[in-house]
Amino acid sequence: MLSAQACAALVLPTASLLLWMTAATAPSYAQHGEQKAEGAAARQLPFSAFAQQRGVEASALARELGLPPALDLSRPLGEVMDQHGLQPQALQAAVARLNPVAAEAASKDWRRIRLKFGLWVVFFLAAMVLLTRVRITLALRVSLLALASLVFGVWLGVEPNAPGTIKDGLVLYGESGVIFPPRLLAFVGFMLMTIIGNKVFCGWGCQFGTLQDLVSHVPVPRWKPPFWLSNAVRATTFAAIAGCALLIPLDILEPVDPFRVFRLGAPLAVGVAVGMLIAGLFVYRPWCTFFCPFGLVSWLSERLALARVRINHDTCIHCKACERACPTHSMAGLRARRPFAQDCFACGACLRTCPVGALRWGLRPPAPVPGEESPRR
Ligand code: SF4
Ligand code: SF4
Repeated sequence: MLSAQACAALVLPTASLLLWMTAATAPSYAQHGEQKAEGAAARQLPFSAFAQQRGVEASALARELGLPPALDLSRPLGEVMDQHGLQPQALQAAVARLNPVAAEAASKDWRRIRLKFGLWVVFFLAAMVLLTRVRITLALRVSLLALASLVFGVWLGVEPNAPGTIKDGLVLYGESGVIFPPRLLAFVGFMLMTIIGNKVFCGWGCQFGTLQDLVSHVPVPRWKPPFWLSNAVRATTFAAIAGCALLIPLDILEPVDPFRVFRLGAPLAVGVAVGMLIAGLFVYRPWCTFFCPFGLVSWLSERLALARVRINHDTCIHCKACERACPTHSMAGLRARRPFAQDCFACGACLRTCPVGALRWGLRPPAPVPGEESPRR
């Protein structure tokens, strides 16, 4: 079993790094976040001061808005807007075109983002400890899944989310040729968790992933689709999202993004989410296994994961209890030593099933029990 010291050595630096990343980047962007809509105070500002606050050249903003070249840039913004019939949305869109990074920053709720990442780190640590040290019963698993979807989805909402860091990053780059640094850091944070703890983030923290996992515990007959099929669909979806974002550019995921179920208000996306949850009764995590961009990227990085399900192939008695308990083909692939086994969502079902203790979550396989003969084939 992974020792307490090894646990601490893995998770504490991750926690510190993630908290530092959010703390270090958020304050400078928070200033922009406070510059919400173009309200009464902004209307009193000289046009040039308003532009400077948004990090754009006043003359460039005037040009972008189609204002006359001879415009007196020291006049109050409100006066200029009224005289030329400018709507606040047009003003915001022009600022966004000239300074997309500032516009992104202004659209974020930084307090909520800091809180969410802080809680994700807490869940990540808790799951790592549970997987390494505790027998995860079904009741414990279901309770924590419900808690995660309530906290990260219902309470803290759709943003940020792991697939969004990939999709939104590609779309912004396609539209404006820029990268939004906090989003890149968020992606690095998600990947760091994946590299340290395999798919612990997906399994225990992602708002829509945990919601799907929760419904998968309704006792109805289930189908495990072949991995080649689900992964081919997922890779094709990724290619379509990336291709449209970079080449057209067009965000094809946004209208159907099931994460938006936590914002209730986009009927098509809510419909897709409900459809995924109904399908999730019969197929484990259909969104994650068939469509999620982060699901694909984190599956690829599973090979690098430090802590994950480890098998002692010498003590395994080949009863296949773990394969039957596994909601995907992951355990079958791991037992067969396939280099590209299906995603393991760190659910812990196999760990509590093995009758001879041949499985554990950690850096190395479990050692044989002293005095017991290895049941080699
Ligand atoms: S694979 Fe599933 S759990 Fe992981 S980020 Fe995507 S939606 Fe969330
Ligand atoms: S049952 Fe399958 S998905 Fe769950 S931890 Fe074991 S190998 Fe991973």
